[in-house]
Amino acid sequence: MVLDKTWQDMSEIQPQVMTMLQNSITKNRVAHAYLFEGEKGTGKQDISIAFAKSLLCEAPTAGYEPCEFCRNCKRISSGNHPDVHLIEKDGLSIKKEQIKGLQEEFSKKA
Ligand SMILES: [Zn+2]
Repeated sequence: MVLDKTWQDMSEIQPQVMTMLQNSITKNRVAHAYLFEGEKGTGKQDISIAFAKSLLCEAPTAGYEPCEFCRNCKRISSGNHPDVHLIEKDGLSIKKEQIKGLQEEFSKKA
């Protein structure tokens, strides 16, 4: 899986959403959870990845835009960041076991 959409890419596709997320970061008002809802192809996954990068980037531009070059940005882009978990449906849905596995994983981390 390639997670290569940038914050700029997503700002062109979903400008209102990205402005809202930008404000939550720059005003230091990031919530504990976000639910992205919408039709297939509206950018839910790409936005959530860009947001995760923004929160973990070592040198975000203007305080919010992921640099795409630091260790954390690169690890998230390649799907190898230990704190970013992407759960995808197994068949028609996300299975209970997948959530149990995620809960177990979270219980191990700081
Ligand atoms: Zn970065």
